[in-house]
Amino acid sequence: MTVTCILCEDSFVPTSIQAKKIRKHPHRIFLCPACHERVAKKAKESPHLIQVKPSLPHL
Ligand SMILES: [Zn+2]
Repeated sequence: MTVTCILCEDSFVPTSIQAKKIRKHPHRIFLCPACHERVAKKAKESPHLIQVKPSLPHL
């Protein structure tokens, strides 16, 4: 099974944990390990620009 990364459009083989998540949530967006690392790095540098896991304020 391969997944296509939305950023570089490369296909990669997901880890068994990722594969489970993909089967549960097939419409979720997945990044290849390289892009995931890049996004995580960017998010650390400028957390206000990219939020990998947006947290909602308590209502
Ligand atoms: Zn990628």
